[in-house]
Amino acid sequence: MYTQNPPSPYVPCPRCGNPYPQPVGYTLWGGFIGPKLLKHVKCHQCGYTFNGKTGQSNDKAILLYLTVPVVVLVLLLMACLICSAMSSASTSFIPLLF
Ligand SMILES: [Zn+2]
Repeated sequence: MYTQNPPSPYVPCPRCGNPYPQPVGYTLWGGFIGPKLLKHVKCHQCGYTFNGKTGQSNDKAILLYLTVPVVVLVLLLMACLICSAMSSASTSFIPLLF
């Protein structure tokens, strides 16, 4: 008699139907937090990675995850530039950072 595997909290692999995709612990694009935020899972049967909640590809979410911080950084930098340009041209950025 076999004990049944506990039901996986993730949807089966959309490519090969493997019902037990594994959560991805670390990725190059998201470090340790990114894959957790996006419910990034990997099928060890075919190597496909996807969103474990929706079963859809995470490509767009990853792109967003990568571009949003860059956009925010650029906006912050622009705000800094505008502020320093308005106050005084000789002020360096260092007082703003510390
Ligand atoms: Zn698969």
